[in-house]
Amino acid sequence: MVESIGQGVFEKDPYSNALTQLASVAEFLDLEPEYYEVLKTTMKELVVHIPLKLARGEVVTFTGYRVQHNNARGPFKGGIRYHKNMDLNDARALSMWMTWKTAIMDVPFGGAKGGITVDPDKLNMDELEQLTRRYVDMLKDDIGPEIDIPAPDVNTNPQIMGWIMNEYSRLRGFNVPAVVTGKPLELGGSEGRLSATGKGVAICTREAVQRFLGKELHDVTVAVQGFGNVGSNTVRFLMDMGAKIAGVSNIYGAAKAKGGLFGVSFDKLNNDLVNPHSISSLVYAEPITNEELLEMDVDVLIPAAMEGQITEYNASKIKAKLIMEAANGPITPSADSILYKGGAKIVPDVLANAGGVLVSYFEWVQNLNRDHWSEIEVNAKLDVKMKNAFKQIFEFAALKNIEMREAAVAIAVDKVVKAMKLAGWH
Ligand code: NAD
Repeated sequence: MVESIGQGVFEKDPYSNALTQLASVAEFLDLEPEYYEVLKTTMKELVVHIPLKLARGEVVTFTGYRVQHNNARGPFKGGIRYHKNMDLNDARALSMWMTWKTAIMDVPFGGAKGGITVDPDKLNMDELEQLTRRYVDMLKDDIGPEIDIPAPDVNTNPQIMGWIMNEYSRLRGFNVPAVVTGKPLELGGSEGRLSATGKGVAICTREAVQRFLGKELHDVTVAVQGFGNVGSNTVRFLMDMGAKIAGVSNIYGAAKAKGGLFGVSFDKLNNDLVNPHSISSLVYAEPITNEELLEMDVDVLIPAAMEGQITEYNASKIKAKLIMEAANGPITPSADSILYKGGAKIVPDVLANAGGVLVSYFEWVQNLNRDHWSEIEVNAKLDVKMKNAFKQIFEFAALKNIEMREAAVAIAVDKVVKAMKLAGWH
């Protein structure tokens, strides 16, 4: 019983996928071995064991992680994930991808990631708060506004970020809002942060649909896997921008719109999915499996759930010609090649979902300056930065005749290596 709360099963290894991507870019860039050596290794890995007394009286020990990949361009930055399958290799892969993402968005951060191996649905609010506070107590010397700044990820939210800020501030003895981003507005959060990743995905989709498909958003059908923070906000903004959402899913199942398009507003769909189990009983949709959702005959597929969803086993069944990686690492390298051979275009995670870390940077800047920007200001900056990042990577990929993922990681690695060289890392 205890294992079902605290321990998970390791199914996929996103770290080996991240290393494969780096190796191919190192070859493309003809990277000096001493820099490749640094980049393929994380700088610091913290593993903490957190005993927690549950309401029912027993003590369960949870394992938490914080992995810091590289800080050549600024303090480490990356989310905190609470998931029953979270492990060290997840944190390693995700921290490396954060280093690329912050470089691509040109924000002065490095890359980190952390989390706890836990199924948060099995804890009550008080237990979740105590677990979060103990995790912060154990990491207190390794996080901070100039050291490493956490943010939300899978199964973590503004409330959890608020507890992180409060616990860190309590330990320091004064208020430190810039230690964490994705906080509630009342605690120094930024306007637009909660929906920023999904908004960035929608902006990137608009650009990619124009450039790759020669169409506008209102001409295309879209299926989205995952209806959490990223997936639901992606659907919200894509609907606002006129795209035809044909299918959505969550961990409990998937729904294919009757007639090919959800004839309801985003608010209605969102409200109907407050209970995530209702995914299979929406009256305006046909229940399908998550596998079938990925294989839908749509123009754009947006995996926005977890890593390793499109692999060598299902890649040849994917019909969408444009895939936007809203989740981190949803496509394995072997699936990449199958999709490319079939003519699909992939907009990689390090670009597609970078709107979140961009607005996290805006939040950090506002906190350090004790400032508060309007939502209009935040969204305008987000739109310009996402559009420019997309353009830069698209044009570099076209110039070098390489795929978008290789172009994005190459641009990022080049920036990080330049910073390491100028700072005299060797
Ligand atoms: P979340 O916990 O809010 O939502 C996850 C969603 O995925 C839920 O709807 C869940 O039911 C669904 N899901 C989980 N496993 C699934 C499966 N096997 N099949 C179908 N659906 C499944 O998490 P999130 O914050 O939306 O993060 C989603 C992805 O986006 C992750 O890869 C995360 O690392 C990435 N990401 C998140 C942010 C952010 O700001 N939250 C930023 C960048 C990237």
